[in-house]
Parts: sequence; C-alpha cells; structure tokens
Amino acid sequence: MNGTIIKSTGSWYKVLLDDKSIIDARLRGVFKTLDLKLTNPIAVGDLVTVSKEENQNTYIIKEIHERKNYFLRKSTRKNHHFHILASNLDVAVLVVSLKHPRTSTGFIDRFSVIVEKQHIPVLIVFNKVDLLNDKHLQKAQDLAKVYESIGYNTLLCSAEKQIGINKLASFIKGKTIMIMGHSGVGKSSLVNCIYPDLNLRIGEISNFTDKGTHTTTHAEMHLIEDGTKLIDTPGIKEIGIADIEPHELWHYFPELTKYANNCKFHNCTHTHEPGCAVISQLEKGNISEERYRNYLSMLEDE
Ligand code: GDP
Ligand code: ZN
Repeated sequence: MNGTIIKSTGSWYKVLLDDKSIIDARLRGVFKTLDLKLTNPIAVGDLVTVSKEENQNTYIIKEIHERKNYFLRKSTRKNHHFHILASNLDVAVLVVSLKHPRTSTGFIDRFSVIVEKQHIPVLIVFNKVDLLNDKHLQKAQDLAKVYESIGYNTLLCSAEKQIGINKLASFIKGKTIMIMGHSGVGKSSLVNCIYPDLNLRIGEISNFTDKGTHTTTHAEMHLIEDGTKLIDTPGIKEIGIADIEPHELWHYFPELTKYANNCKFHNCTHTHEPGCAVISQLEKGNISEERYRNYLSMLEDE
C-alpha cells in the first residue's frame, strides 16, 4: 500500500494511505535515501510503501519513493548532519515581516538558495504590512520587486487587517505547500484567516526577544477538504545552507547566472576577478546590491 507521510513523532509516523485512511507506521532497519547524513530518514511529504504488521493495527515502512524535491537545511542539533524539513512540494512559502519580528534579507536569501538548488517554486509573503509606515511600506514594495524580478512570487499581506488574504488563498489552493519563517511572523494567523477550521495555535510574541514563543515543534501536513496539503513547520531561527560548495553558490542566484556567461574567466567567483560581467552589471544597477552583499557573506560563512 502506498501513502504520504503527514507527521513524524520521532519513531512513529502518521501516514495518509491512498484510500484516505490514516495509519501509524514505523521504520524497521536503516534507510538511506540520500548520500548525506540526515537526522531524519523520512520527512513529511515523503511518499512511502507500507505493509501491515501481522496481528496488529500498525504498519512497517518498506520503501521511500524518490523525492520530487526536498527542503534541506543544516541540522541545528547535530554537527555535519542535515535535516529534511519537508518533501515533494509544489510551492515553498516563506513568511517574513519587516517588523515584530524583523526578517533579514540574509535569511530570505538563504531560503532562496536552498529552494533554487531543488527547483522548488517560491512564494514570499511579506506579512504585517499594517505595522509599516509609508517609508517602510515602500521598502517592502521595493524588496518585493527585487524578488519578483528574479522570478519569485511575492505578496504583501496582513493577517490582522485581512490584506492580500484572498490572493494568498487562491495561490495555495489545491497545492502541496510548505509554510515556513521565523516564529512570530504570522504563519498561523495567515493560515487561520484562510482555513479557520484548522485553528492553528497563535503564539504571543514575547517582548523579551521579539520572536514568537514556540508553538509547533514538528512539521505536520494538514489535509484540507479542497485538496490543499499544507505543511506547517516549526518557527525557524536560522537556515544553514546544506550540500552546496562555495564555488557553486552563485549558481543559485538566478540574477548572477544570467550574466556569468560573459565573465572573462570560466571559474569566476564574481567577487574580485577582472572582466567579471556580474560585477559590471552590479555597478550598472542591474543586480540588487543587497542580494550581492548577502551572496558575499554567505560565501564567507560556508
Ligand atoms: P507564527 O509563529 O508565525 O505562527 O505567528 P502567529 O500567527 O502565532 O502570530 C504571532 C503574533 O503576531 C500574534 O500575536 C499575532 O496576532 C500577530 N500577527 C500575526 N499577523 C499579523 C499581522 O498581519 N499584523 C499584526 N499587526 N500582527 C499580526
Ligand atoms: Zn564573474
């Protein structure tokens, strides 16, 4: 029997079978699905084959089907290990806010590199626009334009004032989506605006850190009647880039790859080389300086 992993609780997994029933399953033995050290061999979104355990109501996971894509990051718990947040996505939705809490463009650009590597379509939601004055609203719009020009979908929203909610709803309808971002940016509030029956817990933002308190600990797929599969993830503080070598980092900045063919050296890193077409486009204002700065700082960190 085939099914989809909808929740992991450590050693047990909840699996939605093709006949729409939900069963409990576990792994027997060691599974290696990627050439990487993973903290979780199976992720929410994975398609699996299961078989029933004799004389019991539980199942064994026999096989993990090849993933269409997966969102991979460095494990925050274990050095040199990686964690698959979710797999088989139609869209990865990143919710950010420019205020309370502020999401840095560095964070957004790390996210964009990860999804670029896996060719996952993107939606960046700038939430809490009701908190922005004219100047900051303009900044949000400018930022959204930068990401649109690279090929990412963006939306300006407010869960509080019901701005952009219909657009968000029609964008995600019927798709398998993962929704992520710092805690406190309003992920649950946005989802609750669209699907009030899900009743996700809304966290109070603690004044102390300006980051929301933790309300979710594991990724979980919510199955919605209209066919939408919504994967809710725990609030994320940092995303460590995984499985990308520094010399190939620029491949995951579409606006750099656009010009890199014209660089004098084929192994140009676009940092200092003479005849670098990327740097000359940067100087002409055709590449966002902020994105380029984030590229440089990611190069240093990796
Ligand atoms: P999550 O951790 O990302 O799921 O964030 P929550 O949905 O729990 O929201 C965190 C806090 O931000 C709550 O107090 C929400 O009421 C508040 N909040 C969410 N969306 C908005 C918004 O669009 N505008 C304002 N002003 N507050 C919001
Ligand atoms: Zn170059």
